[in-house]
Amino acid sequence: MKEETKAILAGRKSQEFNGAVNTPVYHASTILYPSLAAIRGKQKIPYTYGRRGTPTSAALESAVSEMENAEGTVLTPSGASAVSLAILAGLEAGQHLLMVDTAYEPTRKFCDRFMARMGVETQYYDPLIGGDITNLLRDNTGLIFMESPGSQTFEVQDVPAIVAAARAHPSGKIKTALDNTWATPLHFKPLDHGVDFSVQAATKYIVGHADALLGTVSATKANFEDLRRTHAMLGLCAAPDDVFLALRGLRTLPLRLHQHQTSALDMAHWLETLPFVRRVFYPALASDTGHALWQRDFSGAAGLFSFELEPCSEAQLGEMLDNLSLFGMGYSWGGFESLIVPCETPRTAVPFETDGQMLRVSIGLEHTDDLKADLMAGFQRAGYAV
Ligand SMILES: *Cc1c(COP(=O)(O)O)cnc(C)c1O
Repeated sequence: MKEETKAILAGRKSQEFNGAVNTPVYHASTILYPSLAAIRGKQKIPYTYGRRGTPTSAALESAVSEMENAEGTVLTPSGASAVSLAILAGLEAGQHLLMVDTAYEPTRKFCDRFMARMGVETQYYDPLIGGDITNLLRDNTGLIFMESPGSQTFEVQDVPAIVAAARAHPSGKIKTALDNTWATPLHFKPLDHGVDFSVQAATKYIVGHADALLGTVSATKANFEDLRRTHAMLGLCAAPDDVFLALRGLRTLPLRLHQHQTSALDMAHWLETLPFVRRVFYPALASDTGHALWQRDFSGAAGLFSFELEPCSEAQLGEMLDNLSLFGMGYSWGGFESLIVPCETPRTAVPFETDGQMLRVSIGLEHTDDLKADLMAGFQRAGYAV
């Protein structure tokens, strides 16, 4: 079955809900047991307590598992908590963590501040390291964490080579996890490439409408039980209304992502032609250094990319960004509306330094003629000759 069709069917069991097309929203903490035998665990019942799952959460978990080709999926209250959960599920105290240098900034903070307290040493590695990651592996390495493409500069990682290196290590104990938020399981399926844990900030494209926070972690058969237990011990669960919004978003994800990609590619090509744009960071562009790997491993792109302008002053940047009419300035991305933010590149393994002005855009569903006009007026206000 094609992805578009899967997205329509995934997780739906209308016959169990009096024919309702969508799974109802269960607002439940307490779930009443039908008998003493049930509360003693001798009679099997599907749901026992709201935190441990309801038909609403089960619908999204099974839908995401289907799209990720996973044994199982757990839901968390945000993408950030999904990242932390995957790290906690994959590591033990005292182990060594290899974290990609282009990780989402709160992921870096979690490693540097929280995992350090747990005695885990984080070592950042070059996103372009590929199979050479072998040279960084230690006897106590517990987890290699990837994010591909990376935050802000969109380097594509050689995931199969990194997974192969992890598996070939004599300790036999190195797990891999990947933050797959950019591609979504429509455009990249980490577990098919041998990754143990796939993380989504569902807040972005799955919810897709800038109105809910949600995370998912999916795992293979060998890792799901560890993941499920860690999730339960941390007391994590997602709010029912937000789960409903994610299920709703999922139905149109293929359609939206297709348009985000088409529009982003149009915008990226246009930006490349402007004399004051130094570089566009978007793996779907033939000029991008990650293009070949992206073509090999991904089946599509997202609407999020960055570009570098010739240097400008803070005042010029303000003139440009403060007066845009379509591009909003704000964090998160993946919604129907276009966004723009100046981007920071906090790197330690391979510092990224430039005197140019880096900007990150999330291309929404507006017409690209209007988006180009909005940006062009901004460039003119900032004094870029056109
Ligand atoms: C936004 C984001 C997250 C965190 O998601 P939240 O729902 O905002 O907590 C994690 N990883 C990546 C790559 C993101 O872009």
